[in-house]
Amino acid sequence: MVWSKPLERIVLASGNPGKLAELRALLAGTGIELVSKHDFAIADPDETGTTFIENAIIKARHTARRAGLPALADDSGICVDALGGAPGLDSAIYAGTHGADAANNAKLLRELDGVPEAKRTAHYTCVLVLLRDATDADPLIAIGRWHGRILTQPRGRHGFGYDPLFLPDDGGGLASAELDPALKNRISHRGRALAGLRAALAAGDRGNAA
Ligand code: IMP
Repeated sequence: MVWSKPLERIVLASGNPGKLAELRALLAGTGIELVSKHDFAIADPDETGTTFIENAIIKARHTARRAGLPALADDSGICVDALGGAPGLDSAIYAGTHGADAANNAKLLRELDGVPEAKRTAHYTCVLVLLRDATDADPLIAIGRWHGRILTQPRGRHGFGYDPLFLPDDGGGLASAELDPALKNRISHRGRALAGLRAALAAGDRGNAA
């Protein structure tokens, strides 16, 4: 099904100002206004899914229902092959406290202690879900993945989260936290998912993008 009525206003199911700015820049020129869920005082839902896609849908549906508008949600994390995909959905709370980046990175280094470079492969995943309303059965889903390895010690001062420990395959030998932030935003999991979302919106249809 093609979305016949153009989207004019979308609520972002996140209060993160960085994400809002990045997504607004992406939507520039589309005629779509992106507003924060904070404008509607919407609380966070329980993220009870077992996949990034499920959690993004839970957040988008909750926000669309509360705001009465189309909603865009994202969910992301890092999956490390030698750890069976961990931290995965628990990326933000890996060491116990939400968003404790230094502790999360320290735990990741501990878990990978002694694992040789060739086996330290990992990828970030970002899922974006756009629901036209809370009952939309056919959401637009865009997925981006960014492959690389986990370093043995932190490098760089940019970015957030696991960026000081992530050496992307396409980063010219620089850690994610050493990359110029604009470059990181273009080539990262989030950048790829955003590009897919924008392409799907520009095509006036819905679809999946890798
Ligand atoms: P959320 O999707 O914003 O909740 O992010 C989940 C968690 O995944 C973050 O708290 C970070 O630990 C990690 N993460 C997601 N994307 C990135 C990234 O681009 N750089 C570093 N860490 C990230």
